[in-house]
Amino acid sequence: MDAQSYEAFRASLRRLALERIEPHAAAYDREQRFPEESLEAFKEMGLVSLAFSEENGGQGGDVVSQAIALEELGRVCATSSLVLMVIWAGLGPVAKHGSQKLRAEVIRPAMAGNTVASICLTEPAGGSNLFGLKTRAEKTGNEWVLNGQKRFITHATRSDWYTVLARTGEKALGLFSVHKDDPGISFGNREVKMGIRGSPTADVILDNCRIPEHRAVGDSNKGYHYISDSLTWTRVLIAAQALGIAQGALDQAVKYTSEREQFGETLSRFQMIRGKIADMATGIEAGRALLYRAAGSIDNGESEARALASMAKLFCSDTAMRVTTDAVQLHGGAGYLADFPVERMMRDAKITQIYEGVNEIQRLIIAKHVYG
Ligand SMILES: Cc1cc2nc3c(=O)[nH]c(=O)nc-3n(C[C@H](O)[C@H](O)[C@H](O)COP(=O)(O)OP(=O)(O)OC[C@H]3O[C@@H](n4cnc5c(N)ncnc54)[C@H](O)[C@@H]3O)c2cc1C
Repeated sequence: MDAQSYEAFRASLRRLALERIEPHAAAYDREQRFPEESLEAFKEMGLVSLAFSEENGGQGGDVVSQAIALEELGRVCATSSLVLMVIWAGLGPVAKHGSQKLRAEVIRPAMAGNTVASICLTEPAGGSNLFGLKTRAEKTGNEWVLNGQKRFITHATRSDWYTVLARTGEKALGLFSVHKDDPGISFGNREVKMGIRGSPTADVILDNCRIPEHRAVGDSNKGYHYISDSLTWTRVLIAAQALGIAQGALDQAVKYTSEREQFGETLSRFQMIRGKIADMATGIEAGRALLYRAAGSIDNGESEARALASMAKLFCSDTAMRVTTDAVQLHGGAGYLADFPVERMMRDAKITQIYEGVNEIQRLIIAKHVYG
């Protein structure tokens, strides 16, 4: 796509976000309900298939266009942005590494936009240290049998497909596609969260969960390799979500400070307010440059992509936390109330510093790259 096509795409996403997503965003949060209306809107616009190759029945959209979509959705509703991102994250490794049979079963039907997916990496003992995971997958006859517990799984209870990372040997991990109706899969209680409250989060429990052998994704000893590769991509997507949240908070802060009067003037006339708005806008623009540099590096197959993705995730999520906190401050007491979107945005921003690898882990990856 050229620059003009990206801008046209961004404008179409902005329209969709304002007309179909924003009107429900506060209710998703307040009622803690899955954003079904957003999923329907994604389906009508064919957004789920954007991230998949034409060979898999998708549109073959590049990472830059995927980031544009998540940024514009995150600008009005972080939960909706997360739903699309996690469907991509759950299905992505299967589309890239799965056999033709598995892709025909999982990916092709998902392109219609009705499928919800999860990615199951984290466990009670294996968070930042993925290698600490204990879930096992054992081959018996022509089946795999999975046992273990996955923690903090986005969309658990709502997903059709769960992509599960499990130990297949002492030093080997594999990836497996588990369907919600497979025997031996069940779910823990829904977690009560600070933000992204429309997105369900729960444990996924695998108790002698038996799946056919073709549900192993690619080589059953290369799961860690597949996930490392996928995390480079999904960290850019989380950076896009975070940047969208920051931009949304700036939009709200500009609106509020342009209308609210104190001391006989609108807040936007006060220099201290203008300075804060300038800092917020500068942080966002710097984040945007880094985000699209990182997205482009994946599209171009650059060797620096992994470090750039971590930099984008780190910078954009820290920017989102700072900008949303400032936006609440600029609203005064009103910013502390659920009546204004900045209160939700500040709560939503926090998770972007934690999931897809905490920012401390991003710093370790970046430092390793710098030292060579
Ligand atoms: C709402 C939500 C949704 C999520 N969705 C998913 C999902 O869909 N799928 C999934 O697999 N996971 C998901 N997660 C899990 C998430 O990715 C993990 O919580 C995250 O990776 C951190 O792991 P942990 O919680 O075990 O924290 P820990 O690893 O225990 O970290 C605790 C603290 O120690 C720090 N720390 C850890 N190691 C180091 C180190 N080496 N150096 C310095 N500091 C360190 C961390 O930065 C953090 O501050 C989700 C989490 C949440 C809260």
